[in-house]
Amino acid sequence: MKQKTLYFTPGPSELWPTLPKLMEAALSEGVMSLSHRTKFFEDLFAETRGNLRALLKVPENYHIVFLGSATESWERIIENLVLSKSFHFVSGEFGKRFYNFSNLLKRTAVINETAPGVGFFPTKVDIPKDIELIALTLSETSTGAWIPESEFPKLRALYPEAMIAVDVVSAVPYTRLSYESVDCAFFSVQKGFGLPAGLGVLILSERAVARAKELERRGRATGTYHRFTSLASHEALNQTPETPNVLGIYLLSKVACEMGRYGIDKIRAETDKKSALIGEAVNAKKEALSYFVKDKEFRAPTVHTIECGVELKGKLAKNGILVGSGYGEFKERQIRVANFPSHSLESVTTLCEALRNLS
Ligand SMILES: *Cc1c(COP(=O)(O)O)cnc(C)c1O
Repeated sequence: MKQKTLYFTPGPSELWPTLPKLMEAALSEGVMSLSHRTKFFEDLFAETRGNLRALLKVPENYHIVFLGSATESWERIIENLVLSKSFHFVSGEFGKRFYNFSNLLKRTAVINETAPGVGFFPTKVDIPKDIELIALTLSETSTGAWIPESEFPKLRALYPEAMIAVDVVSAVPYTRLSYESVDCAFFSVQKGFGLPAGLGVLILSERAVARAKELERRGRATGTYHRFTSLASHEALNQTPETPNVLGIYLLSKVACEMGRYGIDKIRAETDKKSALIGEAVNAKKEALSYFVKDKEFRAPTVHTIECGVELKGKLAKNGILVGSGYGEFKERQIRVANFPSHSLESVTTLCEALRNLS
């Protein structure tokens, strides 16, 4: 019998355990055939937002809208919030891409770059007063670095005028980010939600939508099929501007509901426990393995980037355990291990044994 593959890749990753059943239910309920201009879809849309709001504790007055991916969020946020100047905290590939999007859209993008794998406190950096948007990546999936959540309310207090956008792709649903301290938070569903790729979620403050309206009033283009103003006006009717990824929205709704029933605090505690197990395995093999992010305070519990020999990834794969490579220049000498809610304690134990035996 073929052994089951364990996907510790940092997205797409291990699927949420009830996914096969949910896909069957979707088929039998006609989810993929029913029009998105029906009461069925409107109810589903409202339910999904409700389940996400409850799970992540998103404030009532925040919008929750759907995009194609997190990558799309970068573009939409720049287009809708920035007339001229954005400021980007960059400590890896994903933050860098957000910054590049601002350049491509011909804004003036200011970069604050930290060496990959080195954590930082955004509040210790002086940000020019004329900055319209501060962009951050809470969990930099390319390096495994994390911004402590307590920084966000402080950043808001320091720069009350600036919009704050945070990439939470590999941080949700685990992160305790207080959404009211930012204007945009966004993620795609193939990481922490254990779903197939192809859906992005964008959480937006009222003032972000108001800002987009103001840019439009000034004659600026804020986008085409997805603009904050039209996303919000459709949202008010439980609708989307285009024919959306209805299956993705359906699955997200069910998974968010199941996670909520299971208990978000339990999910967090288990994530911490699995994190500790991986940490112990790395520590037990000190001569062969070490964390790329040296300072524990800045280490993502959800993405463990481990320095290792060039052969480890292949050896793990031979044992049915898939992990991510290092990013860019670190490709050969690092592995990245995801620790999402779909990763069972049992599978993490298997991974840890393999790390101890194969490295
Ligand atoms: C995976 C990832 C993205 C990109 O997600 P897509 O679904 O490919 O758009 C963006 N930011 C971070 C931090 C990620 O981990």
